[in-house]
Amino acid sequence: MVLVFAESPRGQFKKAAFEAVTYGKKVADMLGTSCAALVLGANAQNPGQLGQYGADKVLHLNDAAFDALDSQTYTAAIAAAVAQTGAKVLILSHSSSGKTLAGRLSVRLGGGLVSGVNALPVLNGDALQVKKSVFSGKAIATYEVSGAVKVLSLMGNAIKPENLGSAVSAEAFSFSAPANRIRVKSVQTQEGTVPLPEAEKVVSAGRGMKEASNWGIVEELADVLGATTACSRPVADAHWRPHHEHVGQTGIAIRPNLYIAIGISGAIQHLAGVNNSKVIVVINKDPEAPFFKAADYGVQGDLFEVVPRLTEALRKFKTAH
Ligand SMILES: Cc1cc2nc3c(=O)[nH]c(=O)nc-3n(C[C@H](O)[C@H](O)[C@H](O)COP(=O)(O)OP(=O)(O)OC[C@H]3O[C@@H](n4cnc5c(N)ncnc54)[C@H](O)[C@@H]3O)c2cc1C
Repeated sequence: MVLVFAESPRGQFKKAAFEAVTYGKKVADMLGTSCAALVLGANAQNPGQLGQYGADKVLHLNDAAFDALDSQTYTAAIAAAVAQTGAKVLILSHSSSGKTLAGRLSVRLGGGLVSGVNALPVLNGDALQVKKSVFSGKAIATYEVSGAVKVLSLMGNAIKPENLGSAVSAEAFSFSAPANRIRVKSVQTQEGTVPLPEAEKVVSAGRGMKEASNWGIVEELADVLGATTACSRPVADAHWRPHHEHVGQTGIAIRPNLYIAIGISGAIQHLAGVNNSKVIVVINKDPEAPFFKAADYGVQGDLFEVVPRLTEALRKFKTAH
C-alpha cells in the first residue's frame, strides 16, 4: 500500500494534494499495490474527489481537532494510518506543512526520508531510488531510500495532477488526538492569490524597482497574467515586500511554468530558488546581468518603460482573444 497525506488547509485541497495523489498512484502501480489518501479534519470538502486523481480509497479523519495543522497531532494520526493500512511508502507534499511533518514521521516510522523529490522513483530490490535537485539546483542527485516505511515529499509542480480514476466514497478513519504540549491558538493566512509554491505564473521584482511605492506596475502585470508576485531577498529585507514573497536559496523554491524577473540581477542565491521554472523571462537594463544567462527570453531595457508596455500589450491581447 502507498499512503498519501492529502493536505486540505481550511477545508480546501490544494493543487499540491492532487499532484501527491497522482504521484502516489503511479508509485503504487509501479510497486503492484494500491494507493490510499488520508484526509484530516472535519472541514475537508469532498474528500472522495481524490479518487479522480488516483486514490483507490480515501480515509477521512472527520474530527474538528484536526482542522488546523498541528505537527504533533498530525504526525500521530498519519503514523496511525500508516500502521493501520500497512503502507510501505508514505507521500507528502513538499509544502511548509509537509516539511514540518516529513522528518517527524520518518523518525516515528523508522523509515528513510527523501525530501523535495521531483521525479518518480525506480525500484531497486527493496529500496527506492529517487531524484532531487541539490546544490541550489546546479545538480540532480539520485538517493536510495530503504527502511520499513519510505517517506517521500514531492516538490510542487513536479508532476501534473491526472485523471486516473473516479470519485470514491471516503471511509471513516478513527483516531483520537493525543494531549499536546503545544496548542495552536490562532492561524493567520494570506488570502486571495495562489500561494507561491503552487503558482504556475510568477511575476517577481528586485532592487531595480528602486522603492516600494513603484510596485504598482509589477502588480498590474501580475494581475493581467493571473500571476502571483514574488521578490528578491534584499527587497524583502528592506520591507518593500513581505518576506513570504522572497524566493531563492534562503526563501521559497518555486517551479512555475512562467517566471518573469524584473530588475533582478540573477545572483546564484536567487537562481537557486527559481531555476527550475519552465520558462524564464528577464527584464533588465544591464546587458551583462547574470540573469540573462538563465533566461529563455530577455528584454534589455528600462523596466519602468518595458513593464507598463508589456502589461498594455497583454491587456490588448486578452481583449482580442
Ligand atoms: C547566504 C546568502 C543567501 C541569499 N539568499 C538569497 C535568496 O534566497 N534570494 C535572493 O533573491 N537573494 C539572496 N541573496 C542575495 C543575493 O546574493 C543578491 O544580493 C540578491 O539576489 C540581489 O537582489 P536584486 O537582484 O534584487 O538586486 P541587485 O543585485 O541590486 O540587482 C538589481 C538589478 O536591477 C537592474 N536594474 C536597475 N534599475 C533598472 C531599471 N530601471 N530597469 C531594468 N533593470 C534595472 C540592475 O541592472 C540589476 O541587475 C543571498 C545572499 C547570501 C550571501
